[in-house]
Amino acid sequence: TYQSLPPHVIILPSPGMGHLIPLTEFAKRLVLNHGIIITFTIPTESINSTSEAQKLVLDSLPGSINSIFLSPVNLSDIPNDVPIGSRIVSTVTRSLSSLIESLKIITSSHRVVALVVDIFGTSALDVANEYNITPYIFFPSTAMYLSLLYHLPVMDQAYSCEYRDVSHPIQIPGCVPIWAWGTDLLDLLQDRKPEIYNRSLQYWRRLNIAAGILLNSSEDLEPGPIKALNGKEWDNPPVYPIGPLIRTGVSDDGYDQSGCLQWLDNQPVCSVLFISFGSAGTLSNEKLTELALGLEMSQHKFLWVLRSPTDTSADANYLNSESVGDPFEFLPKGFLDRTRVSGLVVSSWAPQVRILSHRSTGGFLTHCGWNSTLESVINGVPLIAWPLFAEQKMNAVMLTDDLKVALRPKVNKNGIIESGEISRCVKGVMGGEEGHKLRCRMGDLKGAAASSLSEGGSSFKSLAEVANKWKNL
Ligand code: UDP
Repeated sequence: TYQSLPPHVIILPSPGMGHLIPLTEFAKRLVLNHGIIITFTIPTESINSTSEAQKLVLDSLPGSINSIFLSPVNLSDIPNDVPIGSRIVSTVTRSLSSLIESLKIITSSHRVVALVVDIFGTSALDVANEYNITPYIFFPSTAMYLSLLYHLPVMDQAYSCEYRDVSHPIQIPGCVPIWAWGTDLLDLLQDRKPEIYNRSLQYWRRLNIAAGILLNSSEDLEPGPIKALNGKEWDNPPVYPIGPLIRTGVSDDGYDQSGCLQWLDNQPVCSVLFISFGSAGTLSNEKLTELALGLEMSQHKFLWVLRSPTDTSADANYLNSESVGDPFEFLPKGFLDRTRVSGLVVSSWAPQVRILSHRSTGGFLTHCGWNSTLESVINGVPLIAWPLFAEQKMNAVMLTDDLKVALRPKVNKNGIIESGEISRCVKGVMGGEEGHKLRCRMGDLKGAAASSLSEGGSSFKSLAEVANKWKNL
C-alpha cells in the first residue's frame, strides 16, 4: 500500500555551490540515519550550464540519492546589472513547470512527504502545497540572518533613514548588537530606495508558507537567536537547528589539481594560513595587491586560492567558480619568486575541507561565507574575517564580537585593507597570546559541534524530530 512505501523527500537547490553543498550533506543524513529516499531536482540555466564544481559534488553522492536536471531556463531577457539573488530566484521560478512535471512522475509511484527548498526557492512552496506535499525551507546561513529577516518589518517601521545612518548599534533580538551602525547589515539593506528593497521585504514574508525551517547552525553556535526564533518574538514557523553540516567524503581523484595537500604535508604543524574567498568572491586589483604585500610582510607561510580581480562586484563569479584570464598576472612583480619557499598560490578550485582539516593549517583568512565558516569551526581553525558580500559582514560581526574566534582587519577610509594591517592580523592569528586565545575558543566550538551532531546531541535530535514527522505523515 501507499502507506508502506518508504518516505521520499524532494530537494530543490538554487543554483550556486554555497547552497548545494550543505543540502547534499543534509540529504546524506536523511538517507543514512532515517531511511528516507531523496531526489534532487536541479534548476539549470541555458547559458550557465552546471559548473564542474557542482558536477563533482553531485557525482560524489551515494547511489541512493537521485538527481534530476530540470529543463534549462532562458534568462536572456534579464539585464546583467540585476542583483545575483534576483537572477537566482528567476531561475527557480522559471523552472517550476519542469518541477511540476517531475513531481507528477515521482508522486505517481512514491510516497513524497516533503519538498525542501532553499531561501531562493520560495516560489516552489506553493507548488508543494498544490500537490499535497509539505513544504520546508532549508536556510543555509545563520540564525542571526534569519532573525534579521523576521525583524526587518519592525526595523522598517522604526527607522525612516538608511540603516547605515542609524546612530546607535542595531539590535536584532537574541543577537550580538551590530555596532558598525548598520553598514554591517545584509548588503541588500544598504539602500532602501530601490524597488528591490521593498520586493525583498515581500519576498521574505513568503518564508512563512513553509511548515518548518531547517537551519544549518547549532544551539552552541547561536543560542540567542535560535531561542528568539523558537520563542514568541515573531510569527515564524518552527526552526530546527540541524548543523553544522559541512561537506564530507570527497574523494581526491583529480580534485587536488594544484598539489595543495602534498605541499601541506611538507609544512610544520599549524604553520600555514589558508586564504580563500569562497566559490565566488573576488577582490579588486588594488585590494589583491595589498593582500599579497601584507602576506609577504607577515613572513608567515600561506596557501592562497587566487582568483582574477574584478572591479565590478565582489560576487562576480557566483555562478561559475573559474577565474577569468590568468590570475597570476595580477600579483605584484616578483611576488611569486620572493615567496616561493613560504607560500603556495593556486588558481583552481581547491579541496578546502581537506585543507582546513590538515594538521599544517593554522589559520584561515576567509570571506566569512557560512559554509567556509562552519568548515573552520568543525576543524577548530581560527579566522581572519574579510567579508565581501551578502550576509558575510554580519557573519564577521558574530565571529569577531560574539564568538571571539576571528580578527577583523580594519578598512581605511578608501575602503582598502592596507598591507600593514593584513600583516598585523596574520601575525595575530598565527602566533602569540592573541592567536592562542582564538585557537582555544575555536577548539571549544569544534568540540561542541561534534557533540551536537552525534547521537543524542541537539542537532541530531532536531533532525530526528523532523524526519520522524515526515515518516509519520
Ligand atoms: N570551496 C572549495 N574550494 C574552493 C572554493 C570553495 O571547496 O576553492 C567550497 C568551500 O569549502 C565551501 C564552499 O565552496 O564549502 C563555499 O561556500 P561559502 O558558503 O563559504 O561561500 P560562497 O561560495 O557561497 O560565497
